[in-house]
Amino acid sequence: MEKQIRYYSTNRNLEGVEDIIPFKGYVSFQEALLRGQAPDEGLFMPDYIPRLSIDDVLALKNRPYPEIALLVAKLFLHDEISHETLEKVVHDSYNFDIPLETVIDGKYVMRLDQGPTASFKDFAARMMARLMSHFRGKGKRLNVLVATSGDTGSAVGEAFKGVEGIDVNILYPRAEVSGRQKKQLDTIGKNVRALSIDGKFDDCQDLVKQAFSDPSLEYLNFTSANSINFGRILPQIVYYIYAYAHLCGKGDEIVISVPSGNFGNALGCEYARRMGLPVKKLIMPTNENDEFPRYLKTGVYEKVSPSRACLSNAMNVGHPSNLARFFNLYGGTVDRLGKVHKYPDIDTMRKNVFSVSISDDVTKECIKQTYETYGVILEPHGAVGWRGLEIFLEKNGDFSPCVSLETAHPAKFPDEIIELLGITPELPDSMKDIDRREGEPAELPMAYGIFKEYLQDNLKIRD
Ligand SMILES: *Cc1c(COP(=O)(O)O)cnc(C)c1O
Repeated sequence: MEKQIRYYSTNRNLEGVEDIIPFKGYVSFQEALLRGQAPDEGLFMPDYIPRLSIDDVLALKNRPYPEIALLVAKLFLHDEISHETLEKVVHDSYNFDIPLETVIDGKYVMRLDQGPTASFKDFAARMMARLMSHFRGKGKRLNVLVATSGDTGSAVGEAFKGVEGIDVNILYPRAEVSGRQKKQLDTIGKNVRALSIDGKFDDCQDLVKQAFSDPSLEYLNFTSANSINFGRILPQIVYYIYAYAHLCGKGDEIVISVPSGNFGNALGCEYARRMGLPVKKLIMPTNENDEFPRYLKTGVYEKVSPSRACLSNAMNVGHPSNLARFFNLYGGTVDRLGKVHKYPDIDTMRKNVFSVSISDDVTKECIKQTYETYGVILEPHGAVGWRGLEIFLEKNGDFSPCVSLETAHPAKFPDEIIELLGITPELPDSMKDIDRREGEPAELPMAYGIFKEYLQDNLKIRD
């Protein structure tokens, strides 16, 4: 049987930093999942990366996605969760398509945009929600609190919808979300409630933080469904293996391009490669937030602060939270604020990873070109990925097969698509009925006392 995997903190070697006591321990997956972050504010890392058998992978050619998810999840979780439970988790999580669209011979776009919120984040959030439901204490309800300025909240809410034993409260700033976003948040229903707050996004975040640190609310079993949770990284390993199984044969290598913001998605590919997937190059194009491509070029890391507002707005990140994990895998340490304590092995990183910054102008041009030349519609994030792949091939010579990820559905960016292509992209099936959905938020003022009372009156702690 495979080795037991335990999780350590990326900050474990961080000495002499004010207010941080490095966490030297190891925790189970269950604990890493329910805690989200290590006690020293570091990110949890598996202490051992299981190996994939390529024959097992190739045997999954043309098999449904949940089977591949099961294979990967079992390698990590075999000693903590039964085969039957995991099988149910992956089947519940992945009940939508993963189209691999041919752009030209040997070059593909993998569309990760068919989930309930038409974003690749559905893949990770749905599986994490079901794992949390399984790993919570018996009969104990968990309460997820999340503050959102728009898209993340609905991805988390939809992921937990109908999941046993967990309730979700999403706080959003009443005047700052778009009409479509408000509709998405208010109408999720079931165990997911929207709280419309008379305040700004930062106020919503403050309310959540205060509740988390309020000892008199500890009995409410809060959890954060945080984006840096290792439970959200694990599911993101799967689709790289899926792409390889479907597109490659024995002995093939593959080039993969991942449009990157907080680097969680690309990290999934880095793990897949370390598990043995023959990835020739991982391409991590960014938008104008170019801290990482600049680092690979110069060897000096400097975050972009404040981050730059670009078209691919989900990637407007000046210091990627998962950079700590990348650096750790290559022997370095960087903290939450972007200070490097030990530089990683940049030569090996350069061998495995290529990165380039794509401006908004080039992104727009790419959306036009790709449509005019190949008839393929990309939205801004996917265009950053595709253009990054093209630049890599221009510099290094042609290679096949290559896959570039489309991380959101073009219909989520109607204005850009209409402006650039003159067409209105159709909503994906999962979102077609959005304007007809019904639901009302709870409306609350920006006042911690009233918010707290609302939580005490409405949240449950037992099934
Ligand atoms: C979050 C997001 C990204 C960036 O993914 P990271 O894992 O943060 O690098 C890219 N595209 C879309 C549409 C996203 O929502």
